[in-house]
Amino acid sequence: MTIASEGPGPDAVYREALQAGRFTVQRCRDCGRASFPPRVFCRHCGAAALEWIAASGDGVVYATSVVRNRPDKGGDHNVSLVDIAEGARLLTRVDGVAPTAVPIGAKVKARIVTGDVPHVVFDLVEG
Ligand SMILES: [Zn+2]
Repeated sequence: MTIASEGPGPDAVYREALQAGRFTVQRCRDCGRASFPPRVFCRHCGAAALEWIAASGDGVVYATSVVRNRPDKGGDHNVSLVDIAEGARLLTRVDGVAPTAVPIGAKVKARIVTGDVPHVVFDLVEG
């Protein structure tokens, strides 16, 4: 399968948007469901009908685990699965809380981290 002639792949499109400060996810025009990570075909129905939509940034912690790391390698941190309001699930990190204390079910808000590899992390929402 060759799609190179159609421009940058979905992962590049996603990261370019992040670098410009926009958190976007893909939604299928056929089945209406969100897909993440970026892909060419809908992960639910297989249609090549994905469009980019702006994500609200609202999410809920679905699961979390601690990755142990030496202090000189950045120390311990959490790896969390966050369900976003659009219906996709992201493998990400929740900041502002001890790695072992990320609450399952907590409301979180997306924050874009730009740089060499722009990505999205989440902060706990008060209340
Ligand atoms: Zn679909």
